[in-house]
Amino acid sequence: MNYSKLREDMVKHQIESRGVSDKRVLKAMREVPRELFVPEGLVVEAYNDHPLPIGHGQTISQPYIVAEMTELLELKGSEKVLEIGTGSGYQAAILSKLAKKVITLERIEGLAKKTRVLLKKHGYNNVTVIHGDGTKGYGKEAPYDAIIVTAAADKIPKALIEQLAEGGRLVAPVGKGYGQELLRIIKREGDKLDTEEHGGVIFVPLIGDE
Ligand code: SAM
Repeated sequence: MNYSKLREDMVKHQIESRGVSDKRVLKAMREVPRELFVPEGLVVEAYNDHPLPIGHGQTISQPYIVAEMTELLELKGSEKVLEIGTGSGYQAAILSKLAKKVITLERIEGLAKKTRVLLKKHGYNNVTVIHGDGTKGYGKEAPYDAIIVTAAADKIPKALIEQLAEGGRLVAPVGKGYGQELLRIIKREGDKLDTEEHGGVIFVPLIGDE
């Protein structure tokens, strides 16, 4: 398989063509080998325009959705980012190229362990994988310049809003089943929140205490 050609085609035909234009995001999407993050039997589909199963009833998101959510975080390179829902580690690998430090939380222990090993093996050394319930965030490293949630909740957990720095961006799918909306929340001075809607999405549910 010519993965670099597949990757270039993915960026051109699935991502740029749909309006993602942040040059750093496009570069990261061109660099991270998506085939490393899908199950062995599915590598031929790694660059297809849809999500794929990764075991434990979970999925690696569609490439375009990864790029769109990443662009909405507006990363410049100096940020500390929190991801909720490590899954395959692909989104975390993209973030690692764009931010200073990435903390990613996964509730399924088997996935957290496997992905921690994978990210280390491939040199994504600024990513820390934590096994835990992301609905509580990760207070030890707060505040975060950017937070990305890759599973859908009815509403955004309070802890995540609290752990967002002033000026920070939080991107998350909110809603149930086919009725989810991708939201971006920007925390302004005095903890004022600006909320924007960025279209319909379909994610697996966020499962946790909060
Ligand atoms: N970002 C992932 C990737 O790049 O492969 C895709 C994530 S998948 C769509 C959603 C993930 O969120 C699943 O692995 C699921 O186990 C995890 N998840 C669901 N609820 C969670 C919670 N409360 N805390 C942490 N992870 C959670």
